[in-house]
This record gives sequence, structure tokens and C-alpha cells, in this order.
Amino acid sequence: MNALHIKQDFPLLRSSSVVYLDSAATAQKPDAVIDAISNFYRTSNAPVHRGIYALAEQATQLYEDARKAVADFINAESQEIVFTSGTTDSINMVAYAWAADTLKEGDEIVLPESEHHANLLVWQQLAHRNKLVINYVKLTDDFKLDLNDFLQKITHKTKLVTFALSSHIFGNYPQEYIRAIIAKAHEVGAKILCDAAQAVGHMKIDMQLSGIDFLAFSGHKIFGPTGIGVLYVNKKNFSAMGVYRIGGGMVQSAQLGCTQLGCAQLSGEQLSCPEWKEMPYRLEAGTPPIAQAIGLHAALSYFKEKIVYQELAEHEDTLTKHLLERLKKHDDIVIMQPRYEQPVHNHLVSFYSKKFHAHDIAAWLSQYNVAVRAGHHCAQPIHQRLGIVASVRVSFHAYTTMHDIDMLCHALDQLYK
Ligand code: PMP
Repeated sequence: MNALHIKQDFPLLRSSSVVYLDSAATAQKPDAVIDAISNFYRTSNAPVHRGIYALAEQATQLYEDARKAVADFINAESQEIVFTSGTTDSINMVAYAWAADTLKEGDEIVLPESEHHANLLVWQQLAHRNKLVINYVKLTDDFKLDLNDFLQKITHKTKLVTFALSSHIFGNYPQEYIRAIIAKAHEVGAKILCDAAQAVGHMKIDMQLSGIDFLAFSGHKIFGPTGIGVLYVNKKNFSAMGVYRIGGGMVQSAQLGCTQLGCAQLSGEQLSCPEWKEMPYRLEAGTPPIAQAIGLHAALSYFKEKIVYQELAEHEDTLTKHLLERLKKHDDIVIMQPRYEQPVHNHLVSFYSKKFHAHDIAAWLSQYNVAVRAGHHCAQPIHQRLGIVASVRVSFHAYTTMHDIDMLCHALDQLYK
């Protein structure tokens, strides 16, 4: 994989001198994606699943082709793919279309204390509402996921196990850990929700092999546009899915006089109540993000054409090693990268300095046109637990070159002069 060649496909990167090291927040977009969105608006723009005219049918076909492309990308079936507005939306969908009516007082949820707020706060809110118990899995002091703690916390009371397949601060977990957690969750009959926001652009995900019930990710982290995300729902869970946002496009029949949402589904008799559509349409109320879905399709096609996961992992490994070597020069820098017994590859490195505030480091780097993320990265509890206010995160993608890392390190070295 040649990162320099790949970079040429990204107009923002080829036409500016920015050293973009914030791909874990959002990835840059190749021409193919920008063109696909622009072409859609120029040639095929119309509502989907509504109009009975050729243009609307064409738009519907493109939208459904995008769903098929997502399904193929993660080896799932089209009906298992719900388009959402992003990972946050997808997780909220699991919470309110499935968990809210399924999880009852005393039921337990297990999740790591290092989760992104998107996969933490929603469960805290639901726990409050439904009187659920959340068991937080510890991170060790050297930033590793504590597998023993995780496995011990999954018991017969656990109804949901949820975690990011790759942490947005600490990077990837060993695959063996993920397999062990999923196996334990299956053993006790708990459902599994994985946040794949960071994983999907960096590791192969195969829903036929994974054993995962729900998977959430955002299009914008895998070269797609903002405003589009995916919720995969394994079809064996379809009968347990209620609704989330209510409105047009997700209902089979509606009448005046209904008072209880979803009661037609619950009782199967009260015909004056709305009858929701089948999955995935019951979860796609309103006009969906059509152009964004088409942009995501283009992003996945681009990814398949240009990127081989194994080569990307090797490339990111080389960048990581180089960066770590350079960071180690500074005694005050604490690198927040776990060292597992098994090798794991990473697309990001987080660190903090005992001398400089993370925001000051990012602001300094910005003077050199180097873009990194600084802050608590939407994971305040783990920063508090580690006793730090903020950290710096450097993240890569296929277009990140060794030169980018050198530019960052050079700018950082100037700070220490
Ligand atoms: N989970 C993780 C692990 C993330 O990194 C992010 C984005 N930073 C999210 C969830 C939320 O994604 P989005 O803002 O696209 O909904």
C-alpha cells in the first residue's frame, strides 16, 4: 500500500499543506465520494420509497444498492442494515428500539469504563429509567482492558454486553479478548452490542463469524460523508425490535384513535394502532440520508478497490513504531498505549505530557499546520480515573505518510527547545 499515492485521491490533502492526524475523529474524503454525492444531486435526486415515477425509482434503487454494499462490506444481509445518522444514533436506536422495552428492573449491563460517551451515557440514562445495573469493566493502570474483570462481570444477570471493538483512546484489543468476551456473553444468553466506530475502517469485520447482535458505526470515519451511520441488527433479533423515531415511511397503516405506541405490535389485535413496517424500514422514519448513503457506498467501493486490511495494518504499525520512538525522547511524555501479551496493531497513539497541557500541545502543533486531537475525547470518566485532565491523540489512515509523522515530531521537538 502506497500512502503517498492514496493521498493523491483526497483533494483536501493534495491541495493543502495540512498534516492531518485526526482521522479517528473523522477521515478525509476521496474524490470518488465527493463526486458520487454531487452526481446524485445533479442527476438522480428524488425521494426514496415514496414516488411512483422513474426518477424516484432510480433514487430508491441507488439507496437500496448502498444498503446492499454495506451489507456485503461486513458480510451481512441487506435487511439487517439500518441507515442511521452515525454511531451515536445507532447506539441510541439499540437503547430505545430494543433495550427500553426488553431490559427490566435488576437486569445488568456490562461495559468498559473507557467507552466513548456515545456508548456510556445512553446506558446510564436507560439504567436510571428502567432501574438497571451497570457493571463497569476496569482498565488496568497500564491502559489494558482487564479481561478477567470483564469475564467475571458477565453473569446470568447480564442482559447486554457492550464495548467498542477498538478504543478511540487506547486502540485495539487482542482478538482473543474479543472472542472470549463474546463467548462468555453467549454462555449467559446476553446480547452483544459492539461500537465499531473506530474498528470498521481498520479491521475486517465479518458478521457471519462475529456472534455480535448489534453493530454500530459511522460513515464519516471510513471516508464516507457525515450524517450517515449504520446499525447492523442480526436478523434473529428482529422480533424483539420496537421502534425509535416515529413518523413517515416506517408504518404500514395508521389511524386516528391510537393511544399507545406500538400496541398493535404488542397485542397483535388492536387494529386502530399503527402497524410498523418490517425491518429495517421500521427504524428509518422520515426522509433518510439518501445522498449520504450513496456517498457511503462510494466510500466502501473506494476502500475495497484501494485498501487491503492487512497492508493497512502493516502500514499503521510502521507509523506507530516510528512515532513511539520519537515520543520516547521526551521524558515527561506518558504514552497511553497498552502492551498486551499478543501483538495488536493500532491506528492511533494517545499520550499526555507532565509538563504541557494537551490543549497547549495541540495549539502549538497547529502553528505548524499539524492537526491532532486534544481533550478528554468524549471519555471523561477514564481520564478522571487515570488522574489526567486531557490527552493528545494522533491518529492515522491509509493516506498518512511517514513524512506526516516527521512533521509532527519536528513541531513537537520545537516545543521542547
Ligand atoms: N464511539 C467511538 C469509539 C467513537 O470514536 C466515536 C466518534 N468519536 C463515536 C462512538 C461517536 O461517533 P459519531 O460522532 O459519528 O456518532
